[in-house]
Amino acid sequence: MVHYRTCPFCEATCGLEVKLRGDRVVSVRGDADDVFSHGFLCPKSQGLKQLNEDPDRLRAPLVRRDGELVEASWEEAFAAVEEGLGARSAAGRAGPASGPRPSASCPSPASRRR
Ligand code: SF4
Repeated sequence: MVHYRTCPFCEATCGLEVKLRGDRVVSVRGDADDVFSHGFLCPKSQGLKQLNEDPDRLRAPLVRRDGELVEASWEEAFAAVEEGLGARSAAGRAGPASGPRPSASCPSPASRRR
């Protein structure tokens, strides 16, 4: 089965052609029909398959409970973000440059400990 996605590593969002066998990624190539990248992928994209298979990769959102990061549902995670932003706003610290910056390239908490 082939899935068409965009590379999450940078703002260029190059088109990907991802071949799967079951749940396993068989290959990742540039999508020749992508209107922006026309099949181009830079060398960073060569790590996508390994990143997908990394045992330290986050597979669910994490929220902090009693000082520990624990897996949560997306509903719980968004509620925690909303609550955090509300607290910042109430404290007068919110603004265009404040708040969380989700990114696909953020390392997992496990990899930050190395
Ligand atoms: S393939 Fe390279 S240039 Fe394209 S989005 Fe990914 S990291 Fe960016």
